[in-house]
Amino acid sequence: MMSMAGKLKAGFFSFTGDEGCMVTVLEAISSHFAEWSGKLDIAFWKVLRSRDWIDEDMDVAIVEGAISSYEEEERLKHLREHCKVLVAVGSCAITGAPSNHRNFFDERRLGEIADFLHRFDYREKVQPLKDFVKVDYEVQGCPVDEAGFVKLMEKLLSGGA
Ligand code: SF4
Repeated sequence: MMSMAGKLKAGFFSFTGDEGCMVTVLEAISSHFAEWSGKLDIAFWKVLRSRDWIDEDMDVAIVEGAISSYEEEERLKHLREHCKVLVAVGSCAITGAPSNHRNFFDERRLGEIADFLHRFDYREKVQPLKDFVKVDYEVQGCPVDEAGFVKLMEKLLSGGA
């Protein structure tokens, strides 16, 4: 599944969460940079603010965070159309939790945030990626398990996806 240049073209995306998983992912890539750099083409990394969004095809999208707004839903679906493999990293992306606290608010507390949700076009519920798109791989944890992420990256970099 490598791109023509022989490198795995990857994008790293963050939706609703605290970006803690991407810190772990960044640490993992930094630790393995010498062995991976010749095989990995990092096309986009939201947490590094390289640019606002990417509109290119890629081999793999590494995604953290839950989906809480209609804009995020659209971006995720667009992303799915442009990647061969989509990986959910961390609990927020896989289950929605812990970024889905408001799903469990009672009527009174929901009333208190209703204007805010409406103004910023938030969805009624915060949901995991798999509620909207096909997810090919999941790496569990909060933050994501670094060893599990490294193991999956090595599989992807060896063309084993
Ligand atoms: S799973 Fe945990 S570390 Fe990862 S984005 Fe969610 S809250 Fe942060």
